[in-house]
Amino acid sequence: MVQLVGSLRKELADSLSTCKVLVVGAGGIGCELLKNLVLTGFKNIEVIDLDTIDVSNLNRQFLFQKKHVGKSKAQVAKESALQFCPTANITAYHDSIMNPDYNVEFFRKFVLVMNALDNRAARNHVNRMCLAADIPLIESGTAGYLGQVTVIKKGMTECYECQPKPTQKTFPGCTIRNTPSEPIHCIVWAKYLFNQLFGEEDADQEVSPDTADPEAAWKPEETAARATASEKDGDIKRVSTKDWARSTGYDPVKLFNKLFKDDIMYLLTMDKLWKKRKAPTPLDWHQLENSACPQEDSPVSGLKDQQVLGVWGHCQLFQQSVETLSSQLQEKGEGAELVWDKDDPPAMDFVTAASNLRMHIFSMNMKSRFDVKSMAGNIIPAIATTNAVIAGLIVLEGLKILSGELESCRTIFLNKCPNLRKKLLVPCILDPPSANCYVCTSKPEVTVKLNVHKTMVLSLQDRILKERFGMVAPDVQIEDGKGTILISSEEGETEANNSKFLSDFGIRNGSRLQVDDFLQDYTLLVNVLHTEELERDVEFEVVGEAPDKAPPPQTNQEEVNSITNGNKDSAQPSTSSKGQSKVNFTVTYCPGKKFLEIIQPYNSGTEGEFVTIFQLKKCKNELGDSRFHTHTHTHTHTHTHVDWGDSVQAFIFPSHQFCL
Ligand SMILES: [Zn+2]
Repeated sequence: MVQLVGSLRKELADSLSTCKVLVVGAGGIGCELLKNLVLTGFKNIEVIDLDTIDVSNLNRQFLFQKKHVGKSKAQVAKESALQFCPTANITAYHDSIMNPDYNVEFFRKFVLVMNALDNRAARNHVNRMCLAADIPLIESGTAGYLGQVTVIKKGMTECYECQPKPTQKTFPGCTIRNTPSEPIHCIVWAKYLFNQLFGEEDADQEVSPDTADPEAAWKPEETAARATASEKDGDIKRVSTKDWARSTGYDPVKLFNKLFKDDIMYLLTMDKLWKKRKAPTPLDWHQLENSACPQEDSPVSGLKDQQVLGVWGHCQLFQQSVETLSSQLQEKGEGAELVWDKDDPPAMDFVTAASNLRMHIFSMNMKSRFDVKSMAGNIIPAIATTNAVIAGLIVLEGLKILSGELESCRTIFLNKCPNLRKKLLVPCILDPPSANCYVCTSKPEVTVKLNVHKTMVLSLQDRILKERFGMVAPDVQIEDGKGTILISSEEGETEANNSKFLSDFGIRNGSRLQVDDFLQDYTLLVNVLHTEELERDVEFEVVGEAPDKAPPPQTNQEEVNSITNGNKDSAQPSTSSKGQSKVNFTVTYCPGKKFLEIIQPYNSGTEGEFVTIFQLKKCKNELGDSRFHTHTHTHTHTHTHVDWGDSVQAFIFPSHQFCL
């Protein structure tokens, strides 16, 4: 006869009340998890989070209330969770888990570590600490409606880093500055421009034409010469972008003509760039002003955020937002800076206007403020119920581990739509460790392709070892028979090396570097593969992995994120919207720019490629009594023919905006 305590076997219930567990993160998942743990019967819990509570957390991080804003998440989460179970023993740390105080010994105190994190650097670090301490780790993540939970155990399962993850989206500087080909490139440019004009100036966020673009030069020597020249005047420009704007009194028309006319005319002189591309078309404020048709940009019905303004409308928005932002800057006083925030209306207006003007110049279709906002803000909503489901699953996996049933643990994906078997939750067997993992194999080794004459010691440390390989405080020794120390994690020992090149230390093709991170108890052997032929803007490549490339901008954000969260292709949550999604479409009636409104879909089905059928709401006043025009645009997708009311017919297309 099995003895039960609540719904748990007695032995399990006993072990919950004595074992010690660590929760890393007290945010969206962490709050739910902490509540679940105390209610399940866990009695000894330590929780760590370096964040303080923000107003925007309150809609889902339910352990926090308005009066807690500004306080430590870990501390308040502890106090609130104790109200569910006053006899629990919770220790809260308002700190970063990457602080060296939390060493391998610290991790060994626990029988189980549970991640409730939101960033990859901390996840990598906790993964390594748990491998080093040989403590099971439950890893989790959510993105909108998607979520997943998995279990990591040294030697038994894949670790968090066994599967390479795509790096976060970055775009080559030349693409942003010279040859944008997608709306996202213009949006990134506009955000950089915001910082150059009103915020913190950053040399990596230059917006003016890049004269050193290797593609623009006819001969390699010319590239070098141009690069030198541009470094010289680049420095002056960098200092002066904001100063110049200030010297004009932030005159919107002067700014406009420099950014959208003079700079574009300069780009046109780099004629090699336009051999195979459509050349940009400069804009001129006064010309636009004179030819502007007031009717074209007058407000129309429908949601303001969803409308796409005309060119002159964006000029006016540019003017207004520059005026508002510059007066905000002035009010803040000398040396003040504005911080870009998608929820700050003038900042968002500025990026909408500047990016759309650039899209127009480079012959792209302009975007609504809504679209620009979601691309600029990289917005994936945090959903309370997703976090709650995932936190529940973490506890279930935890109970299996504490019952000694590691083999029954699973990776569980929470999908947005039921799969073919009508399940939202999909469990998958845990994979064994990857033999090629540069973290959890017994002697981790990687080969890095770089140019030893151009790579500085500091970028080896920051870009390669810290950023790419997730180390916190690396020590590097060259295997040259002498044991030369290239980088020491002790302060003041090797800083003099920082700005020297690897070749200055005799590092060449085939050199081997032994890299140690003592905190992570991690040693990595780096084989250097010297090359002169890296793609432009690429500092290094890890051999055996696809070079880092930005995903195509049209990719569904959730898909991008689900990969980021470590999902595997075989069990990727289905994020395809084909044939099943309910999308809010705006139907544009071209002549006179009138809108048809669409109310909720009454049917969705598939016919051909992609079809969603909607019921249309009649907007008689706007359309008058005239019949619909035959559609005038050249969409190639399959479309469906829908009867609309009396005798009016509409064509529904799978795009956000279309004409009738
Ligand atoms: Zn691994």
